[in-house]
Amino acid sequence: MTDQKEVRRQGITVLGSTGSIGVNTLEVVALHLERFRVIALTANTQADRLFEQCKQFKPKIAVLSDSEAAENLKKNVKAADLDIEVLTGVDGLQKAAIDKQADIVMAAIVGAAGLLPALAAVKSGKRVLFANKEPLVMSGKIFIDEAIASKATLLPIDSEHNAIFQCMPDSFHSGQTQAGVKRIMLTCSGGPFLETPQELFDSITPEQACAHPKWNMGRKISVDSATLMNKGLEVIEACWLFGMDAEDIEVVIHPQSVIHSMVEYIDSSVLAQLGNPDMRIPIAHAMAWPERIESGVEQLDLVDIAQLNFQKPDKNKFPCLDLAYQVAKTGGTAPAILNAANEIAVQAFLDREIKFTAIPQIIEYTLEQSNKSANLLLEEILKSDRQARIIARDWIDTHTAARKRNSR
Ligand code: NAD
Ligand code: MG
Repeated sequence: MTDQKEVRRQGITVLGSTGSIGVNTLEVVALHLERFRVIALTANTQADRLFEQCKQFKPKIAVLSDSEAAENLKKNVKAADLDIEVLTGVDGLQKAAIDKQADIVMAAIVGAAGLLPALAAVKSGKRVLFANKEPLVMSGKIFIDEAIASKATLLPIDSEHNAIFQCMPDSFHSGQTQAGVKRIMLTCSGGPFLETPQELFDSITPEQACAHPKWNMGRKISVDSATLMNKGLEVIEACWLFGMDAEDIEVVIHPQSVIHSMVEYIDSSVLAQLGNPDMRIPIAHAMAWPERIESGVEQLDLVDIAQLNFQKPDKNKFPCLDLAYQVAKTGGTAPAILNAANEIAVQAFLDREIKFTAIPQIIEYTLEQSNKSANLLLEEILKSDRQARIIARDWIDTHTAARKRNSR
């Protein structure tokens, strides 16, 4: 009896299981243990948190990118008498991503670091749940082409893209076209500084930037949401996932974060997906698609919310949005350059090396200084990513040195 149930359960691997999306995914798994079993869990350095997850979900594989942290985990796993293979490094991540027992792979590593493991999962024909937007921004075409070749299913976890997916016509879901779709309206909460006067932007701290009014997320995406670069990355992500041009994707500020995005058809019908702002909704949707399962999220109370507001984004206050539209138009390696510069700049801001307002400056400078190529081969994209990181880092080091000289 138990064996028959085992056979029916779907195997799930969570890349980035200790992060905000990873933890939410495991919460949904825990609600449906009759349906899912965990095959692999991975993290960067957080050995203690991963060990706790290993005790609860008993995966076959656990990976820590950091080799020292992996050694600690190995000792703990052995002492607890758990039958778990502990791996490390990019090779370990890729092995976890392609394990035969996993039907579903949640790609929830943050940043470009998730590219190779997510690509390995796609190449091995899994159902890949895409939270990790940066690899799609860098190399969306490669992911789409590989998914077609391997018959992998790509399902968006980003709440906006998951909403768009739910509003797309049936012909899109069965792998054909998005016939009749005219425009996508990508909603955006506006982040924590929607009402903050631009004169105060220079003094914004990492703590203020990470205190998002509606969503509880990792630090990098929280800063991206504060600069609106998150929405810019999402425009590029939507171009690839839904085969649209950036000019057909409009960003609409919607502070309540109840409508997660909208699809407008040529007959002027607009379909929207609504829900409380909680990532367990898109996660549960993609885990069970095309069926539905409970997510553990409270019912939406529209009467309590009472008002839904909309406005245009202020592009002067949030220049990152236009930078993203520009690279979407340029294409080639430009989105990878923008993404790399943004990752370096956001980390430097979190480390208090630069001001909040330096983030778009660094991205603009890096885009100007980088060699852009129309080539979309993986090697070319990874080379552009590396070069852009060096250029962005140089900007920070030069400006830090100048600031120190001036303050002497
Ligand atoms: P997070 O910082 O909370 O978690 C990141 C996870 O990735 C952790 O498990 C961490 O250990 C792992 N990781 C970090 N660097 C790594 C590296 N170099 N190698 C291997 N593993 C590494 O981030 P998050 O908020 O969960 O976001 C994850 C991804 O999902 C991001 O791309 C983000 O843009 C996207 N996303 C997040 C949300 C959200 O609500 N948090 C919503 C939409 C999209
Ligand atoms: Mg989003």
